[in-house]
Amino acid sequence: MILGEWVIVTPHRADRPFQDPSRDCPFCPGKEETSGDWTVLTLDNKFPSLHPEPGIVPLDANVVLEAPAYGECKVIVYSPNHEAQIENLDDDEVGRILGEYIRVFNSLDSKQGVEYVYQFENRGEAIGVSLSHPHAQVYALPFVPPRIKRELGQVEKWLKEDGSCLFCHMLQKEVEAGQRVVAETDNFVTIVPFGARLPFEVHIYPRDHVSSLTELEGVLHELASVIRDVVQRFSKLFDENSYVMAFHTRPSKGDFSHWHFHIEFYPPWRDRSRIKYLAGLETGTWVYTNDTIPENVAQELREAL
Ligand SMILES: [Zn+2]
Ligand SMILES: [Zn+2]
Ligand SMILES: [Zn+2]
Repeated sequence: MILGEWVIVTPHRADRPFQDPSRDCPFCPGKEETSGDWTVLTLDNKFPSLHPEPGIVPLDANVVLEAPAYGECKVIVYSPNHEAQIENLDDDEVGRILGEYIRVFNSLDSKQGVEYVYQFENRGEAIGVSLSHPHAQVYALPFVPPRIKRELGQVEKWLKEDGSCLFCHMLQKEVEAGQRVVAETDNFVTIVPFGARLPFEVHIYPRDHVSSLTELEGVLHELASVIRDVVQRFSKLFDENSYVMAFHTRPSKGDFSHWHFHIEFYPPWRDRSRIKYLAGLETGTWVYTNDTIPENVAQELREAL
């Protein structure tokens, strides 16, 4: 309320399963939902934070304090194989997974009431993943999340002042400078961003100005290999390969063709095995301190493979 942001209240999720090895994995084949022949499978999240038909919550007449948690949560199971992390799959398989990301995105993007479709993968015990079977999550949100709004504000400011795309501009400068570039392919550039908030933050940008993954359908195989490349580098540098992989796409409603689609990775590590905790400064003021130098991290990542 005082931040002008929404919090999704999810007490029912406290009971969601944290996988214990003695119990069956709900995503392995053979369950009611996971039977049959499949390579990539999308399921409804059994412990969703949002609902297509939420109960009615009374609204304050003057100040909106509560709203129904409208939306949908889905899970994309990467493979029937419980161990099939991105680096263990090949480019065809990861390309198929990205194809499913697109299919699910398109199915939610145009739905009434959906303002933003957020797709991400949480991986590893270090960030508290409850089910280790590789999967992505999809949140169809009834609002544009604050982080995206913030980036969008910067993009629109730059567009107004300079008449160009901030990301296209930044990408060109990064490629010219080269020090923070981790890898390049025909259509994608992987960088440690200038002003990375986290020590091992990595972003993937398409060279073409596209606003969603859907527009990259023709180069999914290449993107698959670029994503695998990042994850493989992480697996060389960390004892546990743990990260958040966040897809930053355009908002769902309106013309956001000025948005430049990209993928951001946030590993929780400050080095091989020590966690970067968000403490007083970060949590209390959202001011980040990063005690690594992005150029050095980029070099470390370049040399990891
Ligand atoms: Zn499993
Ligand atoms: Zn651009
Ligand atoms: Zn972003």
